[in-house]
Amino acid sequence: MYGFDYHAPQSLSEATALLAQHGAAAKPLAGGTDLILHLKERRLKPRHLVDLKRIPGLDHLTAEGSELRVGAVVPLRALERAIAGDELLQATVGAGLRQMKSPTLRNRATLGGVLANADVTADLLPPLLALGTTVALHGPGGDRVLPLDEFLLGASRTALGAGEILREVTIPRVAGGRGFFQRLGLKRVGGPPLVIVAGVLVPGPEGGVARASLVAGAVGPRPARLPQVEQILLAARPAVSGIEQAAAAGAGEAGAVSDLWATKEYRQEILEVLLRRGLQAALGTGGDR
Ligand SMILES: Cc1cc2nc3c(=O)[nH]c(=O)nc-3n(C[C@H](O)[C@H](O)[C@H](O)COP(=O)(O)OP(=O)(O)OC[C@H]3O[C@@H](n4cnc5c(N)ncnc54)[C@H](O)[C@@H]3O)c2cc1C
Repeated sequence: MYGFDYHAPQSLSEATALLAQHGAAAKPLAGGTDLILHLKERRLKPRHLVDLKRIPGLDHLTAEGSELRVGAVVPLRALERAIAGDELLQATVGAGLRQMKSPTLRNRATLGGVLANADVTADLLPPLLALGTTVALHGPGGDRVLPLDEFLLGASRTALGAGEILREVTIPRVAGGRGFFQRLGLKRVGGPPLVIVAGVLVPGPEGGVARASLVAGAVGPRPARLPQVEQILLAARPAVSGIEQAAAAGAGEAGAVSDLWATKEYRQEILEVLLRRGLQAALGTGGDR
């Protein structure tokens, strides 16, 4: 019979001490939507579960000035409500959240859990990366802040060190930005996405863009920024004249791979189509967000 000890620490330092003490035998528990499934199916057998939900200071959600600060255990449903009136966050993060059809999942799963999981097919990773999100970690050595891009190392791999907890997520509100989220998934309900692409563009002079941030997800071991696409869009005047070239470049540079669900070539083709649609929508020349 498999058993584990359940811990409900009352402070961050107590939680990190427990995680550091038990090492690989301990796991932080947030919403539990992923971890409990692993336990039930015996894919993971931690001897210690360290519940983060009772720790004061991890459940705040503040929208002040140019950023949204989200405590690690804030449920996705609360994030969804907080961004309801923000057009850019709706077109990016909100569109990703709407892919998670189950209200139970959105009520339980936490933003910290999504990021710490680092699932290559997670809907929220591309939009959060495109927005320039950062994460604050707390561990035995104190606090550190990392861009999300440096936090995500690969499939289910993050920069979290021994005893470290993801404490807070900061999502910038990009002034004047226009965004999009495009996704193609397997048709069956709950099927994994084959390609996700998200972008944030800030209009500039002469119909150009002053900032372009494009990310492809679900195509390789981790979501990938698309710097060539970004450069093409930054150089084009007007920006819409660069859409075709940008979409074609994105297909090549995303690092698409073949797997059980789709071939590399199919992913590249779809990526080109989704990038074109997303850019057209964000730059106001048709397409749908
Ligand atoms: C039925 C179902 C449908 C789903 N559908 C979708 C979907 O359509 N799109 C999508 O993108 N995702 C989907 N998911 C994945 C879902 O988003 C994740 O299960 C969820 O985000 C994990 O969050 P959680 O708070 O429940 O994490 P938990 O299950 O509690 O933890 C997940 C992992 O992260 C670690 N962890 C959690 N919080 C922290 C922290 N603060 N610091 C350090 N480590 C931490 C845990 O130790 C564990 O390893 C689905 C999952 C299920 C079960």
